[in-house]
Amino acid sequence: MVTGGPHPHLNPLPSRERGSLRTPPVRGNDIPNVNLFASYLTRKVAVGPSHISGKGIIAVQAIASGELVAVWGGHLITREDMQQLPPEVREHPVQVWHDLFVGPRTAAEMEPVDYMNHSCEPSCGVKGQIIVLARRDIAPGEELTFDYATTDTIGLDVECHCGAPSCRGRVTSDDWKDPAFQARNAGYMSLYIQEMIDEYQTMIASPLSPSGRERE
Ligand SMILES: [Zn+2]
Repeated sequence: MVTGGPHPHLNPLPSRERGSLRTPPVRGNDIPNVNLFASYLTRKVAVGPSHISGKGIIAVQAIASGELVAVWGGHLITREDMQQLPPEVREHPVQVWHDLFVGPRTAAEMEPVDYMNHSCEPSCGVKGQIIVLARRDIAPGEELTFDYATTDTIGLDVECHCGAPSCRGRVTSDDWKDPAFQARNAGYMSLYIQEMIDEYQTMIASPLSPSGRERE
């Protein structure tokens, strides 16, 4: 964990204009002018050195549990398209469906939100596919992280040095299949992964049903 106190080494994010809204405000949120960025990232953070890997997103103000911290945006990128991306960019798009990612296609399109690191005991988690909430209270100086295996089921196989007591040591595309992983991240799995888990559980609960599907 990064220690508390002032963070002169952190670069404040560019300020964003507050847009006018017709819809009710999201809890604990300041909606930016989304035209400036493809993604949303709370103004309570800055990009700075990470104890996990390279740069990370560090809180500079307290963030409450359940608060909206980010909304991932960018290009929609297929699995095939991913192979064409520059290697330094390829690790940043987030998988949002079985064969679909969202994020930058070039280094120039990288945004602050793209620096959110993985942790096996993350401070944030995904709701739906692109909404990122704080999973607990986050103090200034703490890094905002999520578990990459709660979103990605393709091409993920990296050593982990997150330093969490329960660090898995390796983060892979198959982690979502582990019931202990599912329990630990209940409520914070990408929608398409949760659907696969639910389908599998329906299948084993209804062994006489050939497909396991009994929905409309
Ligand atoms: Zn780890």
